Amino acid sequence: MKKLIMANWKMQLNYQASLGLAKKFGQQIKTSAKEVVICPDYLSLVAVSNTIKKTKLILGAQDCSITERGAYTGEVSPADLKSLGVRYVILGHSERRSNWQENSQMINNKIKAALASKLIPVLCIGETLVEKQRKQTKNVLIRQLRQELKEVTIKTAQDIVISYEPVWAISTNKAAQPMLPSEADEIQEFISHQAVKILRKKVRIIYGGSADFNNASEFLRQKNIAGLLVGGASLKIKNFIEICK
Ligand code: PEP
Repeated sequence: MKKLIMANWKMQLNYQASLGLAKKFGQQIKTSAKEVVICPDYLSLVAVSNTIKKTKLILGAQDCSITERGAYTGEVSPADLKSLGVRYVILGHSERRSNWQENSQMINNKIKAALASKLIPVLCIGETLVEKQRKQTKNVLIRQLRQELKEVTIKTAQDIVISYEPVWAISTNKAAQPMLPSEADEIQEFISHQAVKILRKKVRIIYGGSADFNNASEFLRQKNIAGLLVGGASLKIKNFIEICK
């Protein structure tokens, strides 16, 4: 199984910069050994989709609505994302949980809507620094998995991805601390066991949190790490290309 490398550009780039970076990645990332997904903001999705059509890159989105169609001002339909060529959609990112109060019920609804539109949800879970210090990591992960994957059914193990993202290790947090790859691997083994109990399939578990070209190969060497979700380092051409090699 190819390692999955996902670039989450968040809202860091304007439209022109997103197109420019997509073009450069398309020209320079020629690997077939890894599955490389870029997730621009909504506004750039159509143009980026056209830009990367003849490249090895795959398109992802950073969020989607809880439903396919309706009176939902400001929302974006998973069915429309699918029709634009989007394959993966990041859901439950810690920034959405903390800044927009997304709760587990909403995330669960989004996962179901994404699957109904044949998108592959990438469910982000992880503990905050306070939860880690209180030794609540495993309880937090179990709760997130049980509530957010509740009544979720998948046909194959490829239909959903879980991204373990310890919130305290995400580079945009002022006090971000890197996590040891071996430590992440242990937790991801735990997540994998819990996810099998719920989904009845062994799905891919990727890691996110200050991954860059210095540590990527060490993370990717771990048995339970099927890939990386990359934030900050995915905005730097050389850095991201190294990760994708
Ligand atoms: C993220 O926000 O999902 C993330 C992994 O960011 P970074 O790689 O910058 O820590």
